Amino acid sequence: MEKESILIKNIKCLVTCDEKDHVFTNVNMYIEKGKISYIGSESRKAKKIIDGTHYVVYPGLINTHHHLYQIFSRNLPEVQHMELFPWLRYLYEIWKNIDETTIYYATLIGAGELMKNGCTTCFDHHYVFPENGRHLIESQFEAADKLGIRFHASRGSMDLSQKDGGLPPDTVVQTTSEIIKDSQRLIERYHDVSEGSMRQIALAPCSPFSVSEDLMKESQQLARGFGVRLHTHLAETRDEECYMMDKVGMRPLEYMEKLDWLGPDVWFAHGIHFNDRELELLKSTGTGIAHCPISNMKLSSGVARIPEMLRRGIRVGLAVDGSASNDGSNLLEEMRAAYLLHRLQASSDAPDGYEILKMATRGGAEILGRKDIGSLEIGKQADCFMIDIRKLELVGALEDAKSMLATIGYKQPVDYTIVAGKITVSEGKLTALEEGRLIEEANQVSKNYLCN
Ligand code: ZN
Repeated sequence: MEKESILIKNIKCLVTCDEKDHVFTNVNMYIEKGKISYIGSESRKAKKIIDGTHYVVYPGLINTHHHLYQIFSRNLPEVQHMELFPWLRYLYEIWKNIDETTIYYATLIGAGELMKNGCTTCFDHHYVFPENGRHLIESQFEAADKLGIRFHASRGSMDLSQKDGGLPPDTVVQTTSEIIKDSQRLIERYHDVSEGSMRQIALAPCSPFSVSEDLMKESQQLARGFGVRLHTHLAETRDEECYMMDKVGMRPLEYMEKLDWLGPDVWFAHGIHFNDRELELLKSTGTGIAHCPISNMKLSSGVARIPEMLRRGIRVGLAVDGSASNDGSNLLEEMRAAYLLHRLQASSDAPDGYEILKMATRGGAEILGRKDIGSLEIGKQADCFMIDIRKLELVGALEDAKSMLATIGYKQPVDYTIVAGKITVSEGKLTALEEGRLIEEANQVSKNYLCN
C-alpha cells in the first residue's frame, strides 16, 4: 500500500522522547513517505488530516523480548504455581506441537494486542523448532506484514536436550549444523538494515541451559559475520546460576564473557541476578538488557537491578516476555508494572514515569540497533500512538503527560497507532483485518493445538 501523507494538526501535547526531552503543545506534525518531515506551527497540505486538538502523541513503544508462540499456552492452570525450570519442563510438552498455522495466528493475536496498546516494533524470540515446524519464521513475517508492525524476528535455537544434560526434551531440539544452516538462510532472506526497515533477524540461542557451547560460539561467529545482533536469556533465576556453576563452574555472565558474547550488538532478556562486577562489565561492553517485570514477578524470578543499571548508564529496554509468563502482550501495562515494582523495591532511587517511557521507546531502539525509531523527530520514522485525553480516567493527567502512562496507567486500547506513516490502529481497532473473525479463527486454532 502506498504511504499517504498525514497531517496531525494542533496536537494538544506531543511527547517526543528526543535527547532534549522536548514536549510540545499545540503543534502540527507532518508525515510524508513514512517519515516525520515537519514539526511546528505551520500547516501543510496532506491527503489525510487528523485533528489532534484533544490528543497526546507518543513515540511508538518498542518491545525487546517476546515469545509470541506462547499465546496459546497462557493461563494454563497446571503451571500457575511453578517457577521457571519446572514451568518450562511442563510446557515443552505442549510447545513441541507448534506448527506454521499456530504460530501465524499466535503472531496475529500477540502482535495485534501489542499494537492496540501503542507498540510499533516487536522483537520476537522464537526458539522451538519441532519436526513439523520448519518454516515458522516465514509465518511470523507473514502475520507481521498483514498487521503492519515493524518486526524483528529471531532465529532462536536449542541443541542441548535432556539426554545431553539440558532442560528441553529431544523433540524440540535440532543439531548445531541444522540450526546454523537455517540461521544463514533466514538472514540472507529477511535481514534488512536499510533505513525504515520492517524486517530484521537476530540470532538467539535460547539459554545457556538448553544450548551447547559450540552452538553459542558458532551463532556468535555467524551473527558477527553478517552484522546481525545476538540475544539470549540470561541471569533470569537462581536455578540457572546453580546449573551453570554445576556444569561449567562459572556464573552465567562469566560464561558469556568467555564465549565473546558481550558487546553493543548483544542484549540479554531479564538480567536479574548480576553482582556489582557484572553490572560494570555490562556497562563497559555496551551490552543491553530487556527488562520484563511482569514475567519476573509471575515466575517469582526476582527483581532486576534496573535503578542501578540506569544510574550506571547500562542500556535497558522494556519487554513483555512470552505470553505464557505474562500472560498478555501489553507494553502499557508493563510500563506501569515496571514503575510500581521499582518504587516498591528501591523507593526514591526508582526510575520516574518518564524514565520508564524512555526505556520503552528510545531504550528499546538502542538495544535493537535502530537510529530511525524510538523518538518523534524530523527525519525519523513516523511510528507513534495517540490517546484522546477526554476521558474521566485522565482528568488532571496532563500535569505531566510524559509520565502519565507509567504513573496513572492507560488501561484500554489507544485511539491511533501509526507505523511507518500507516494507520494500523484506528479508534482502538486494528485496521488490517476484522477482529471478530480473527478471534473466532484463533480460538479454533488454540483449541486444536491444545488437543494435540
Ligand atoms: Zn523469554
